[in-house]
Amino acid sequence: MKVFKFGGASMNSVDRIKNVAKIIQSFEKDQLLVIVSAIGKTTNALEKVAEAYFNERKEEALQLFEQIKNSHLTTLKYLTVTRWQEAENQLKEFFTEIEWLLHDAPVRKYDYYYDQIVCCGELLSTVILYHYLAEQHTSVGWLDARDVVRTDNNFRDANLDWAFTQQKTTDTLQHFFSKHNVVITQGFIGATDENESVTLGREGSDYSAALFANILESESVTIWKDVDAVMSADPKKYPSATNINSLSYAEVIEMAYYGAQVIHPKTIKPLQNKNIPLLVKSFLDPTLPGTCISNQFTKGLPPIIVYKESQVLIQFKSKDFSFMEDKPIHDLHEIFNEVRIKPNVTQNTAISLLCCFDDRTEKINELAARASVLFDVSMERSLSLLTIRHYQQDVINNLTKNTTILLEQKTPETLQMVIR
Ligand code: ASP
Ligand code: MG
Repeated sequence: MKVFKFGGASMNSVDRIKNVAKIIQSFEKDQLLVIVSAIGKTTNALEKVAEAYFNERKEEALQLFEQIKNSHLTTLKYLTVTRWQEAENQLKEFFTEIEWLLHDAPVRKYDYYYDQIVCCGELLSTVILYHYLAEQHTSVGWLDARDVVRTDNNFRDANLDWAFTQQKTTDTLQHFFSKHNVVITQGFIGATDENESVTLGREGSDYSAALFANILESESVTIWKDVDAVMSADPKKYPSATNINSLSYAEVIEMAYYGAQVIHPKTIKPLQNKNIPLLVKSFLDPTLPGTCISNQFTKGLPPIIVYKESQVLIQFKSKDFSFMEDKPIHDLHEIFNEVRIKPNVTQNTAISLLCCFDDRTEKINELAARASVLFDVSMERSLSLLTIRHYQQDVINNLTKNTTILLEQKTPETLQMVIR
């Protein structure tokens, strides 16, 4: 069995959906579990609905949702004839659920409503793809991932109930694959034991694909993207970026962790744990080799550049000149946990700790407020975090021209700098 994952960009027009179907059909002799994201920028659009709703701008929320409905209905119309009515009914069931929710005033926390609304993007995209494939006589089934992916109620970043998910997924998919070669399901979503919808964190579909692959012990996972392969840097920023055809899990987990937009950082562990290769391939040209990520160590990699913008550097300094040792460090990490934020890089001095974070304004303000009870807090915003793996001096010189380095950390493989 193989697992495929198609992201929003691969589904963002009628032609692209047909293209996704063509790729699936070229593999339909195999058993194929297909994980799909929401179409195009639907998740962002649904976030706007959730925001408007929660801020009690109900009419705006309904109107924004109407646009999402219409674009999905139009796409469906272009793709189906014989299955059109059945598919439309299925879409409308999801629409109705959301509209009911939008009509009542919010009484619970924002993150709960976010998940109830945002999860529908994946449900809609998969329904459309499923009916299109079925109309083309592909032997295909549609699975609501919320029936098998069980989590806690940490909305927007839910944690898996591994035992339940493993059992339910195995049983359910065994049943599906006894009837169909291809099963379509959603990435990014799951449900609590009270059947409330949850999401697994933005861009979480890669992670979903890896979870399914781990549980089903699939022979590989293929993530279909609009790039030819994983590259050594963002080519829009660094024109000298090159394709890399083979990478180790260890390399990719570091790249992703430091902010490379290739693959969601949580994707690697479930695959590495079962030694399942991850292929990154182009949905625009499936004949290209792409990138294979596996346990094979690759020698002679070019410098890999990861650039993360919108960073904030915060200094936490002890108020009474006590050393930054166990107790204050522990206190700070407690605050990070409470605010649910993680530093990207940290550096110790005798009486202070420097931390670089993604600048999510609300969280940063909350963090600063809480920490200032115990520490003197100062911060600088609008910075970038530059990570270079396998660095070479000429590359460093080039990248740091006209910048000021505020923090630097170096190991034999990795150089990280917070720069202004
Ligand atoms: N649709 C979700 C998002 O855009 C999940 C994903 O695409 O991986 O974040
Ligand atoms: Mg997406």
